[in-house]
Amino acid sequence: MVVQQKYTRKTPVSDEPGSGTLAIDIRGLTVRYNNVLALEHVTFSVSQQEIVGIIGPNGSGKSSLMKCIMGLVKPRKGEVLVLGQPNTEQRKRIGYIPQLEDVEWDFPVTVGDVALMGRYARRGLFRRPTRDDRQAAEAALQRLGMYEFKNRLIGELSGGQRRRVLLARALANGPSVLLMDEPMAGLDARAQHRLLDIMDELRDEGTTIVLSTHDLSCVSTCAAKVACLNQRLIAFGEPTEVLTEKVLNQTFGTHLLLVHLDGQAYAYQHHVHPSSATIEPPDSQPEEQQFP
Ligand code: ADP
Ligand code: MG
Repeated sequence: MVVQQKYTRKTPVSDEPGSGTLAIDIRGLTVRYNNVLALEHVTFSVSQQEIVGIIGPNGSGKSSLMKCIMGLVKPRKGEVLVLGQPNTEQRKRIGYIPQLEDVEWDFPVTVGDVALMGRYARRGLFRRPTRDDRQAAEAALQRLGMYEFKNRLIGELSGGQRRRVLLARALANGPSVLLMDEPMAGLDARAQHRLLDIMDELRDEGTTIVLSTHDLSCVSTCAAKVACLNQRLIAFGEPTEVLTEKVLNQTFGTHLLLVHLDGQAYAYQHHVHPSSATIEPPDSQPEEQQFP
């Protein structure tokens, strides 16, 4: 008797750039903290070597989306695939730069130590750093112009310098996917241009970048695609298609104030609308979120 094999084992799909595997595939993501709905059924995808900008008012779920992609926040519904695998299995390949407000700066560590922390994902928490680890951390600091600060305490640095150190920490591990939460905030024009140049370099080297920002001209010049977020995904696509007044008004509500400064357009909110982030859907469930 011949037993027909029902399933044939597939050869593993390559996730190299150019293979067609999506860098990030976000499917029906819903995130809730207690009774606060942060994201509702968000679906979009990011190709490899693409730069995607996320814009939205305060409280619209930008940071939650980043944390969810990184696997730091567990979604209520939906899933995130990174390079074809569940995000929780790909943590080592994701670099994450939190917004400055989310970082504990009083911690007594040096700039060099922070950069070296970027290697923990690769070497595990309790192994001693190898020469490769040190070299990678130092090269990342050098790239960001922070090598000369390596013995300084992180708490002594300016906001822009801290951000460069966080970027060095992420780059030390050579991530395939880089998530940057409001990387432009608080940087002067020169530092912003330097960061944009670094993003271009990284993209050319094969890195996929997702950044959240309030700087509309940054996304319109540097990002291939823009995601307009306000709990739900209001629009997603190329900046010229997406950044219309209608979409921006839907995204930022009636509180949008566009300010043009130094040839750049910034979106400000007049004030936060308290009701906008707390609408309960009919199928509301009790809390079961997990946090780091
Ligand atoms: P954004 O980064 O766009 O400002 P967030 O993702 O930080 O938005 O927040 C989205 C919503 O989730 C907001 O209403 C915020 O108050 C809420 N939220 C974010 N983090 C937490 C948390 N750890 N606990 C409770 N609510 C939170
Ligand atoms: Mg945020």
